This record gives sequence, structure tokens and C-alpha cells, in this order.
Amino acid sequence: MRLVTFEAQVRTAVGCLDSEDRVRDASGVAGLGDDMNALIAGADSLLPVLRQRLDSGELPVVEGATLLSPILRPVRDIFCAGKNYFEHAHEFHNSGFDNKSGGAVPEFPIIFTKATTSVIGPDQPIPASADPTESVDYEGELTVVIGKGGRNISKQDALQHVFGYVIANDVTSRELQKRHSQWVLGKGMDGFCPLGPSLMTADEIGPIDALTLRTEVNGELRQEAKLADLIFDVPTLITAISERIMLLPGDMIATGTPPGVGIGFTPPKYLFPGDTVTVTIDRLGSLQNPVA
Ligand code: MG
Repeated sequence: MRLVTFEAQVRTAVGCLDSEDRVRDASGVAGLGDDMNALIAGADSLLPVLRQRLDSGELPVVEGATLLSPILRPVRDIFCAGKNYFEHAHEFHNSGFDNKSGGAVPEFPIIFTKATTSVIGPDQPIPASADPTESVDYEGELTVVIGKGGRNISKQDALQHVFGYVIANDVTSRELQKRHSQWVLGKGMDGFCPLGPSLMTADEIGPIDALTLRTEVNGELRQEAKLADLIFDVPTLITAISERIMLLPGDMIATGTPPGVGIGFTPPKYLFPGDTVTVTIDRLGSLQNPVA
């Protein structure tokens, strides 16, 4: 299923997309309202009900719906993997913006977080003008949404803890990322984490390795890579984080970005007001945002 959070007639609610991409209102199922996290936490009992009502056409079609971030209020800051594609690790290392010592390819996963307040939905503007250094960059990323939480999750069991997948754009101020050493301020700014357009349940995505991610800026292809090129794959990231921190239902893990980010060009190709960024992943759709 492709789950969404939408706004229509001054209310927000959880829904799903039907086979014709129409928004169906699912907020009445078990009183979900607009709380995607409640659906994720209660997935074992709620998803079969939702599936049955979607398939039988019982869920009302919503006209004029605006899609918001599928998860409106993340349970906590979003976990993110840094330098997690071989070619991007070299691209970033060679850019002069890498303030980490050591080689280009990390020995262990690099994990940082983006603040919950960085989340915006599809078509909502990325506030590049809020970065005084004018060095805003894009990073298209597959993002994992955790279903069943846990500590010390083994690689073998990891995929059983995945609720679904969503596209993220790990928008980054390169100068602030470098200036503050830790990546939190350069990457966690308000509005710097577009998510969407829908949250696809894990049972529908198929083999992740076969999927291709593409990022376009104003229609120009900048990033194109198979998700098979990840240095640390989804099970490895889940295992690495849950060895130290209890994963919760609704937690998100952005898996890193492939080569082709703006900082990889000479001169860099940063984002400016008036631009449009589109991140597409096979099966998951396209996440498009204007830059303001
Ligand atoms: Mg990233």
C-alpha cells in the first residue's frame, strides 16, 4: 500500500493512494485521524483492515487533497547515513568539504540526525534563502521506516523490522556542515528534509537492490544510481543503530546519497530560489520541491 497524509478542507488525515493515484481517506479506520505513527505501531492489526477496505472501495475518495509529509510528526529526529555510496564518498572526500580525517570510504557507518522540524512534504518550498552561506545542496535518498522496534536487531532479522520506505531529500548547507564540524546544523535546518510523496509498505517494494534513484534539478539529471551500490545496506544500518539505540516504531533511517550532488561539480551547483528538485525512486514515485 502507498500511505499518505493529506490536507483537504482545513483538516489533515491519513489516507492511501488507490490504483488510479486517487487519495482515499483512511482516517476513520480505528480512529487514526492524522496519526501515521499509530498506524505504524498497530500495523499487524490495522494494515489488513486498511487493505480490505481499500480493495473493496469502501474508503472515500478525497477531492482536492494536498499531500503532506507521510509522517507529519516523526517520533524523533531522523537517523541518516553519511557517505554511504562508494562513488559519493570519493566525490565528497575530494570536494574539500569533508572535515573528517581518514580515507574516503568509511570503515563503519556514519550516522547523524536531522531534526523533526526539518520535515516538509511534497511541493513545499525548501527554504534555501535561510542559509546565509548560499551553499544549499540536494541529496536524494531512500529512507527506511521502522515498524517493529527493538535493540540488537540481527542482520538476518532486520528486514522484518521495516514497515516501509519513503523518499527523502537530505538537503544540506555545505558551508554550515563544514563550519560546525558535526553535521546536525548544516543538515537539520527547518525545512531541509522533504519527505514523500507516499510511504510504501515493505511488502510492495520488491528487491531494493534492483531500484534506481534519480535526482533532477530543473529537469537536469544530476544523480542516477542503483540502490545496490550502498556501502552499508539496509540490514547493516538497522543492526548498527540498534546495537546502541532502541529503535522505535516510526523511526526513519535515510540511507545516504549517490554521486552527483552539487558539491561534486566544479564549480559547485548549489540550489537557489526558483529551482525545482525532483528525487525519483522506482516504484516509490517522485518527490518534487520548489526552492525558495
Ligand atoms: Mg545524506
